[in-house]
Amino acid sequence: MRFNRRGVAMLATLVSVLACSPADEPTPTAAGQSAVDRRAGAPGIGDPDFPRDGNGGYDVSHYDLAVDYTPATKRLDGVTTIRASATQELSSFNLDLTGLDVREVAVDNAPATFTRQSDELTVRPARAIADGAPFTVRVAYSGLPRPASDNANLGTYGFIPTPDGAFVASEPNGSKTWFPNNDHPADKATFDFAITVPAGVTALANGEPAGQPTTSGGRTTYRWRERHPMATYLATATVGKFDLRRGSTAAGIPNLAAADPKFKSSLDSLYTLSGQITDHWATVFGPYPFSSTGGVVDDYSAGYALENQTKPLYGGFQPDETIIAHELAHQWFGNSLTIRRWKDLWLNEGFATYAEWLWAEHKGRKTAEATFKELLNRPATDPMWAYPPGRAKPDDLFNQSVYTRGGMTLHALRRAVGDPTFFTLLKAWAAEHRYGHVTTEQFVALAERLSGKDLDALFDAWLHQPRKPA
Ligand SMILES: [Zn+2]
Repeated sequence: MRFNRRGVAMLATLVSVLACSPADEPTPTAAGQSAVDRRAGAPGIGDPDFPRDGNGGYDVSHYDLAVDYTPATKRLDGVTTIRASATQELSSFNLDLTGLDVREVAVDNAPATFTRQSDELTVRPARAIADGAPFTVRVAYSGLPRPASDNANLGTYGFIPTPDGAFVASEPNGSKTWFPNNDHPADKATFDFAITVPAGVTALANGEPAGQPTTSGGRTTYRWRERHPMATYLATATVGKFDLRRGSTAAGIPNLAAADPKFKSSLDSLYTLSGQITDHWATVFGPYPFSSTGGVVDDYSAGYALENQTKPLYGGFQPDETIIAHELAHQWFGNSLTIRRWKDLWLNEGFATYAEWLWAEHKGRKTAEATFKELLNRPATDPMWAYPPGRAKPDDLFNQSVYTRGGMTLHALRRAVGDPTFFTLLKAWAAEHRYGHVTTEQFVALAERLSGKDLDALFDAWLHQPRKPA
C-alpha cells in the first residue's frame, strides 16, 4: 500500500480505525465457547496485535468465490466455497465476515448450524472434523457490503461501492467485508472467482481469465483464477466501466492495464510503465513470481494504491512511475513473500519504498545514497526517529517510519555489506521464500549468512530503537 501525496492526511484517520478493532471486544480466550469446548477453533489466528483477525484450527488451501453484484442497488449475492484442512479436532470453527446476511452453511455438503457475533461467523458442523482432515465449507450470503471505515472521508477500505461498480482494496483486514474467510496474511490460498455483473460492466479479479466472459439474461460472468498462494487482503473483485489494454512486457510477461473512462489518458502510460518496471524488477529481485502484471486505475478517490496480487489498484489518480515502482515491488515483497505477523510490515513497505529509490537511481535521476543522506539530515526530533519501524504498531500500522526508515534500513545494510552482497541478498531473499511467509529474524539471519558479518547492532539501531541511529 502507498498513500498518494494528496492523500497523506488520511494516514491519521485510517490509523484510528485500526486502533479500535482489538480493544472493544472481549479477548478471545475470555469469551464463550472456546473456554467450554477445547475442540472449538480459536476466533483469532494468533497475531497478538490483531487478536480477532483470522481464525485458528484450520488452514485454507483454496477459495472459490461466486459473487453476483448489481451496482445500481449495491446488492451482493455470494457463495463462497472454501477448501481447508483441520489442524486440530474441530467441533466448531470460525470464519471472518462483516455484516451481510448468511443464508446457509454446509460442511462437506451437509448442513451446518452457525452463529454470528461481531465479525465472527461460527460454524458448527453436524459432526466434528478430525485433526488433519480435509474439509469444505460453503457459505451462501447476501446483502449490502459495508466497507471498513472511520466515518471520515478517506480512511475507507474493503469492498467500496462506487457509482459504476466497486473498488476493492482490503489491506489490512477488509476482505471480510465481501466474503467469509480466514482474514489474516498468515493463511494464504489460491483463488477462483466467478463475478456476475450487468452486461456492459467489467469485473477484474486477480490472476488470469479462466475462459471468456459469458452473458445470459443481461448479466455477464467473468471468471478469474489466481493459481499462486495469495493473502486475503490482496484479493479483489473490482467492478465498473473500464477501458482495457492487453499485451505482454518486452520480457514476455502478460500485461493487463485497466482504467476507468475518466482516466482513459492514463491507460497507455500505466500499461507501458507497468511492463517496463516489472521487467526491470525481475533483473533486480529475480524472476517475476506471478502469471501476469499490470494495474487498474479506478475513479474512486481512495487517496492510496494497493498492491492487489497481479493487479495493483490505484484509487482515483493517475499513477506516476514512483508509485507504480512501489506497487510492483510488492509483488515480490508482500505478495510472494508474505509477513506472518503485521508487526513485520517493514518487510513489505520498507522494501517497496526502497524500490522507489532504486527506480530513481536506475533512471539516473537520484541515487539511493542521495535520498538516504537527505533523510538522515532530518533532526533527531523528527517523529520518524521515535517510531522503530521493525515493530509496526497495531494502532499506527502504516506510520511513515515503517516506509521511510524501513527503506533507510535497507540502504544502511547496503552500505555495510557492499553492493554485490546486497543485491545478491535481495534475490536470495525473494528466491528462498517464494510464495511463503517471512519474518524479520529470517531476513537478518540471511543477511548475516551472505555477508559473513554480525549485523545485530545495525538492525537493532535501525529497526528497534526509538531514536535516530548514530
Ligand atoms: Zn506499499
